[in-house]
Amino acid sequence: MSADRRKPVLVIGLGRFGGAVSRTLERMGHEVLAVDCDAELVQEFAPDLTKVVEADATDEAVLERLGVADFGSAVVAIGTDIEASVLSVLALADLGLTNIWAKATNDKHARILERTGAQHVVFPEQRMGERVAHLLNERLLDFIGFGDEFAIARLKAPEPIVGLPLVSSECRKKFDVTVVGVKRDGENFIHAVPDTIIFPEDELVVSGRIDDIERFSAI
Ligand code: ATP
Repeated sequence: MSADRRKPVLVIGLGRFGGAVSRTLERMGHEVLAVDCDAELVQEFAPDLTKVVEADATDEAVLERLGVADFGSAVVAIGTDIEASVLSVLALADLGLTNIWAKATNDKHARILERTGAQHVVFPEQRMGERVAHLLNERLLDFIGFGDEFAIARLKAPEPIVGLPLVSSECRKKFDVTVVGVKRDGENFIHAVPDTIIFPEDELVVSGRIDDIERFSAI
């Protein structure tokens, strides 16, 4: 189930991850109720979020009093204290929430979160680590991996396909990648079509297997 734009979102834990989730949700127009047991963090975030409460999120009775059962979605952003993370997810699931996102620090933690009631488990540090590794060689400008070795990346147009329409450079046949979009200096992204001609400074958005994207960026 996707989060309704107008429905309020509950965020448990205002560390770097939970803080970023909360601030972004507020900027997107959601009401955010954030819960953290650290009084200083509660004070720090109070001006920026709809409501910030100092409380122990593992306590189901406290969560119930906060009215969390009415929330469409919740994000449990506790990583280090695995017990607190799991007990918070359990309390939210017992209160009937059905769109619970939780941050995991390792595979076992993720499996416990899934069995406890989290519908979505994310690994922010691992994901960012993979991303930085792919961006390090500076051929890729942006990179999103989807698991199963598939990814979408943004890269400078490789020289051999410059000056040609995509239909002639045969990226799919020769390199096993699909050019999805093209960004030209000073213009917005356009969808790539067979007769799109690639210019020297163009940036491309391509999809494909990670190995194939890396190979294509180096031709
Ligand atoms: P990040 O990497 O996002 O900064 P972290 O992994 O370093 O987070 P965590 O231990 O995951 O830090 O804690 C994230 C936040 O969750 C902290 O601000 C902490 O105070 C809060 N927190 C931890 N346990 C609870 C709890 N039982 N109830 C409410 N908040 C909690």
